[in-house]
Amino acid sequence: MPELPEVETVRRGLSPVMEGRVIEHAAINRPNLRFAFPDRFRERLEGQTVTALDRRAKYLLAHLSGGETLLMHLGMSGRFTIVDEAGESGANTPGAYSHPAGDQSKHDHVIFRMSGGVFLIFNDARRFGFMTLFASAGGDEATPFLSGLGPEPLGNAFSPAHLDCALAGKRTPIKSALLDQRVVAGLGNIYVCEALWRAGISPKRLARTIPGTRSARLVPVIRDVLNEAITAGGTTLRDFKATDGALGYFQHSFAVYGRESEPCRKPECGGTVSRLVQAGRSTFFCAACQR
Ligand SMILES: [Zn+2]
Repeated sequence: MPELPEVETVRRGLSPVMEGRVIEHAAINRPNLRFAFPDRFRERLEGQTVTALDRRAKYLLAHLSGGETLLMHLGMSGRFTIVDEAGESGANTPGAYSHPAGDQSKHDHVIFRMSGGVFLIFNDARRFGFMTLFASAGGDEATPFLSGLGPEPLGNAFSPAHLDCALAGKRTPIKSALLDQRVVAGLGNIYVCEALWRAGISPKRLARTIPGTRSARLVPVIRDVLNEAITAGGTTLRDFKATDGALGYFQHSFAVYGRESEPCRKPECGGTVSRLVQAGRSTFFCAACQR
């Protein structure tokens, strides 16, 4: 499942082919993905200029010139592919689009033709992704997907003071508290495990014991693990045109995630990575150095 760094990588990849361009044509190849597409979806998109492409939590937000925002979520398996007229698709006829080879094309659910002859193909085999529109003027509160979200983990509003306030009195384990989107937006299972390991904090520790010095330790490492993954994704981004054009999935090595029974990577720790299940999700941690 794409986490925040993957979504940010997708945003950076799509930005040059979306921002400032007009959605000339939108092919909507089915009535729904995870949810039904909004009424008159195609008509509301066509002719609109994308004024900016932002990200909020794990949502991509394409702000449109007409006053609506296109919200896009990648779900479990959603991916965008960029094909230009001279690209790998072999579609050299201006305005024409021919499918790339391969039987995955039956999952190409949405195709945007942008001005300048670029096609954006949204492929989602499992269809947990979705797209919707909301009135830009209403901000986050204009859509249930964004309303009530906590601050962005990479933004200034996410601070030790915010975390102190959000966790005060909470009796849930810190692992679960950090996955609560009202506490911090867009942080997923993998990066919570990585950040807790780096901060030396047990995932089982009660959230109410975090405020103070532990919050001060945790906030910068959350930023660090996300920024390092975004940098790794950026490496992929530079190379994507050489591969299959699909954005957002990259190889990244984790310190604890997926490393059960392997040695802890902290120098001189000597511990072993364990796995436990918290709220139905796997947690990887080192009991020797995470307290
Ligand atoms: Zn350790």
